Amino acid sequence: MPPELHKLSPPKNDLTGQTYGRITVLADGGTNNKGIRYWECQCLCGKVKIIRGSSFTSGKTRSCGCLNGDAIRIRKRVTDIKVGDRFGLLVTIERKSNTLWACICDCGGMKDVESYDLKRKKVKSCGCKKNKELQNTVQHYKRKKEKVGAHVPALKTKVRHNNSTGVKGVGRVQMPNGSIKYSAYLTINGTTHRAGYHDTIEDATIARKDLEEKYHRPFLENK
Ligand SMILES: [Zn+2]
Ligand SMILES: [Zn+2]
Repeated sequence: MPPELHKLSPPKNDLTGQTYGRITVLADGGTNNKGIRYWECQCLCGKVKIIRGSSFTSGKTRSCGCLNGDAIRIRKRVTDIKVGDRFGLLVTIERKSNTLWACICDCGGMKDVESYDLKRKKVKSCGCKKNKELQNTVQHYKRKKEKVGAHVPALKTKVRHNNSTGVKGVGRVQMPNGSIKYSAYLTINGTTHRAGYHDTIEDATIARKDLEEKYHRPFLENK
């Protein structure tokens, strides 16, 4: 855990799983010494970053920063979106700014989406489609669990393609001050256990090994 963030108390509102623009909240990142809450977020571009909660709940931050560059580059090319255009399950209903469209989803949900993300088909629903995929994954693991035992699917999981370090269970994270840390995590049956942020991949790998000891060992020994 970096010195600038502490986990003194659990957050009042758990934002885990919520999406804001390109950002999906992965986990509580702790508070700084002024009590301001940070969250570990993953951007659609794959980057994991620690972001101050109020900056995305207020709508100020909608990506890891990649959007700013993308939006400027693409602005000229995406002026051809009109009200009523369809992108996946989404239909545009109102232009909110130069680059932002209010959309309605086939499920009835509403979502504001960057024109860039609509054009590139990065966002195709209000989030309901993603939830359905997540549900399917959870169901898949449950069925496997009944067949072969709880630990096997997680132990056999390949390196997550977007974890950016190449080490299973170790992710690259950008801290609020811009420094890079490495997070250790272990996902079993859809639940992700986390072991803080570390200065080096090696330290994070050790922390990941500790998680494996803690959560895999009991299953293996009981077999
Ligand atoms: Zn990004
Ligand atoms: Zn929807």
